[in-house]
Amino acid sequence: MTMSDLVQQALDFGFSHAGLLDPATLRVRPEVRQMCAADLCRSYGRNWTCPPASSSLAENARIVERYRSGLIVQTTAQLEDPYDYETMMSAGKQQTRRHAAFREVLRPQYPHLIALGNGACTICATCTYPDAPCRLPHLAIESMESFGLVVTEVCVGNSLGYYYGENTITYTGCYLLELK
Ligand code: SF4
Repeated sequence: MTMSDLVQQALDFGFSHAGLLDPATLRVRPEVRQMCAADLCRSYGRNWTCPPASSSLAENARIVERYRSGLIVQTTAQLEDPYDYETMMSAGKQQTRRHAAFREVLRPQYPHLIALGNGACTICATCTYPDAPCRLPHLAIESMESFGLVVTEVCVGNSLGYYYGENTITYTGCYLLELK
């Protein structure tokens, strides 16, 4: 399967948009970690996939350098109005589920893949952090932000949109696929 076929496969799987990701475009940025520390999403210090428990930016930069291909996937939803919180939540959950499910589709072909999603890992109803080790480390998914990535920058750097019109919301995830 070619990388272009992979984009089509992601679209067929149900993502609203998909595009190839060149890992060479990725920059891990300390500013994103500072935003995490502001704890607007109420996940900082509460989840194994979020700072300060998640891997260091230096480590993440080294991880990125080892990969030569990747994929970006998005779910876009139309909101009834800018305050349509219900649709926002539902689209976010849909992207989380789809992104995790597609990882399992990709895994046989890309056994070294790394999935980066939207928001803190929500596989367990309550994360064990910090009292006990992660229950399912092979399934836990770190967010792009926790990894140190600016989502809009990743999209722009790979010629994929991130805004699809008035009263829409888009959630983005990605996969690092092939090692160099
Ligand atoms: S799999 Fe469970 S314990 Fe592990 S990071 Fe996710 S929510 Fe936390």
